[in-house]
Amino acid sequence: MLVYHLPGTFETREEHLDLLWEAGATGLEERAGLIRAYFDEQADLPADIRDGEWRDEADQDWQAEFKANLRPVPAGRVTIVPPWLRAEVPSTQVPLIIEPGMAFGTGHHATTRMAVEALSALDLDGQTVLDVGTGSGVLAIAAALLGARYALGVDIDPVTIPIAAENAGQNGVPEGRAAFMVGTLGDDLPGDVVPDGVFDVLVANLYAELHDLLVGAYLGHLRPCGPLILTGILVSKLPLVQDALEREGFTDVQVRTDGDWALVTARN
Ligand code: SAM
Repeated sequence: MLVYHLPGTFETREEHLDLLWEAGATGLEERAGLIRAYFDEQADLPADIRDGEWRDEADQDWQAEFKANLRPVPAGRVTIVPPWLRAEVPSTQVPLIIEPGMAFGTGHHATTRMAVEALSALDLDGQTVLDVGTGSGVLAIAAALLGARYALGVDIDPVTIPIAAENAGQNGVPEGRAAFMVGTLGDDLPGDVVPDGVFDVLVANLYAELHDLLVGAYLGHLRPCGPLILTGILVSKLPLVQDALEREGFTDVQVRTDGDWALVTARN
């Protein structure tokens, strides 16, 4: 397996993580002061991230090791599992099966886990949910499994859309209950399509600077008093998001943290 070793951590190189995904990384991991970016083939990297080193770790079969170390992730009423651990989910929990692969969102990142917990704390029966930056579809699928009438996942990365749809199918979510499309919010961002309509709940696992840009658009897509759930926020960047929410008139702003990561809920 081809791994690009980039010195630094997710926090110190936050602005470079998207560059790795855009260059074709299939997974990112942080270990011992290094960001390990998994690639299928060597990519031409932009200058900002050329200070790393390519390593062929084929003999070590990291993927098998990674899979062997995966555990079910309880998140509120839901437990996120890869397909082969489905039997380990207690009968009191809602199983959410995610095949670890090309798209972010296996549940093993604190932000995904906190977002599923936040969804799980709501009564989603009959609600509509917009998931911005859907990745593996995990949050939209969680919403559908928790009773949402309709969950729409949007992502600027077209690779994620069929993966999210396949994950929804694997969880037995009927097609009309969850849909996925290439898109984003906000006219000034790349991404062709902005979803129409107003949703009962909006969840977005992106990053602080993007939340700052998108808060106005969140307001336009959320029914009055609809809960907003934002994560992907480094604790050090929380003030940026809190200020943006205040600027747009959101109230009842609450923060949860897990290590370096924060999740913010608010109402409009
Ligand atoms: N929702 C999943 C989860 O919670 O695990 C995946 C979150 S992952 C951190 C962020 C996702 O947002 C990526 O799939 C990325 O392609 C997407 N993304 C980044 N910028 C975006 C934008 N401006 N609009 C929509 N999606 C975006």
